[in-house]
Amino acid sequence: MIRFDIVSQGEELVSGSTVDTNSGWICQKLKERGFTAGRITVVGDELDEIRDALSEAAGRSRVVICTGGLGPTSDDLTTEAAGHAFDRPLAEDPTALAQVEERYLARNRPMPPANRKQAILPAGASLLENLWGTAPGYRLDVTTAAEPCHLYFLPGVPSEMKRMFEAHVLPDLASRFQLPPKRTLLFRCVGLAESEAAQRMASLVQPGVVVGYRANLPEIHVKLHLDPGVDEKPLIADTLERLGDYVFTVGGGPLAEVVGKRLEARGETVATAESCTAGRIGADITSVAGASAWYVGGAVVYANAEKVRQCGVEQTLLDAHGAVSEPVARALAEGIRTRTGATWGLSVTGIAGPGGGSAEKPVGTVHIAVAGPSGTVHRKIHVPFDRTRNLQMTTALALDLLRRQLG
Ligand code: ATP
Ligand code: MG
Repeated sequence: MIRFDIVSQGEELVSGSTVDTNSGWICQKLKERGFTAGRITVVGDELDEIRDALSEAAGRSRVVICTGGLGPTSDDLTTEAAGHAFDRPLAEDPTALAQVEERYLARNRPMPPANRKQAILPAGASLLENLWGTAPGYRLDVTTAAEPCHLYFLPGVPSEMKRMFEAHVLPDLASRFQLPPKRTLLFRCVGLAESEAAQRMASLVQPGVVVGYRANLPEIHVKLHLDPGVDEKPLIADTLERLGDYVFTVGGGPLAEVVGKRLEARGETVATAESCTAGRIGADITSVAGASAWYVGGAVVYANAEKVRQCGVEQTLLDAHGAVSEPVARALAEGIRTRTGATWGLSVTGIAGPGGGSAEKPVGTVHIAVAGPSGTVHRKIHVPFDRTRNLQMTTALALDLLRRQLG
C-alpha cells in the first residue's frame, strides 16, 4: 500500500473564496492508479502552518502532492516553507530561471524582476518544467523518521496543475511504484434514494470488494471498488439484480446520452413539451453531441394558453383538471408528438415551488407523460427540494420515464 497526502496551499482556500478542487482531482487520479489516499490538508499563507503541513504529510505518506504558493508575490511561501520543513537551503536554479525567462520571452514580454523568485528552489529539488504558466514545479525527495517520501510541488492554478500532474508526476510515480490499478465499477441510478440503494446492496459482502455510495443529485452513484483478481462479471450481474432498472448505465455517460443512444439505435425521435422545466429537458438533450439525429425539438408551454396553442390541449381539460394534472400531461405529450411527427412525445407539468402549492397539489407535485407508438404512460412524482433542484430532479425523472419505454 502506498499512501499519499495532499497539501493545498492558498489563503483563498481557507478564507472560503475559492473551493479546493485540486485535491479531489488529484485523489481521483492517484486512486485510479492504486495509491491509497491519506489526508488532505488545506493551509493559508502562514509560513509556519505550511511548514508543519508539509513535514507532517511527509511523515505520514510516501508521496505528497502540494499545490499552490509557487507564485512571484510575497504571499507565495511554499518553497520557503519546504526549505524550513526539510532543512534545505534555498538557491536560485539557473535552469528554472531560464525556463521562467523563456515563458516571458515567448509572450514577447520582459520578465518582471519579481518572477526571479520562482526560480528559487530548495537544495536537491528536481525541476518540473511548466509549459503552461510561469511557475516551475519541482520534486523533493526527503527521508523522514521511517521511510523516504517524494514531494511534488505544483502551481495552484487548476489548469496548470492538471497538465503538470499528467506530464510529470504520473510518469515519475509510475517509474517508482508498480501498483496494480484499482478498478471501479460505477452504477448510475436515477429515482432511487441513497438509503434504499444501500439497503439493496447491504448483503453484497465479498473479499476484495468495497461498496461506496454517493448522492450526486439528480443521480445516485453506487461504486464497487475491486481489488486485482476479482472477477467483475458476476458482480455486475448481481448488482444490476439488486438495483434493478434504476440503473441507467454502468460506467457510461449521462442519462440524456443513454436515452439518445437507444433512440438512435431504434431509428426513433423524441419531442418535448415542457411547462415547469421550461426547456431544461431540451437543454439536457442537446448537451449530447449528435442529438440532432434523435431530437426533433420542443415547446415551452408555461402558460395555459401556450399549452392550448402549441400542443392542442383542450381548454375544457385545463378548466376541469388544472394545468398540473394527469390528463393535461397526457394531452401535452400526445399533442407534441402529433404536431411534430416524432416517435415519442415527452411532457412535464408541475409546481416547482416555493409558492403555488395547495393542499390538493402541494409544491413538488409533477406529472410526467410519454406518448409513443403504443399509447401513453404517465407518472406522478413528488420532488421535495428547493426550486432549482426540483427542476433538476424533474428533468432527470422525465428522461428516465422515456428511457424505461425504450427497452
Ligand atoms: P502558483 O500556484 O502558481 O504558485 P499562486 O500561488 O499565485 O501561483 P494563486 O494566485 O494562489 O496561485 O492561485 C491561482 C489561482 O488558482 C487562483 O484563482 C486560485 O483560486 C486557484 N487555486 C489555487 N489553489 C487551488 C485549489 N487547490 N483548488 C482550486 N483552485 C485553486
Ligand atoms: Mg497562492
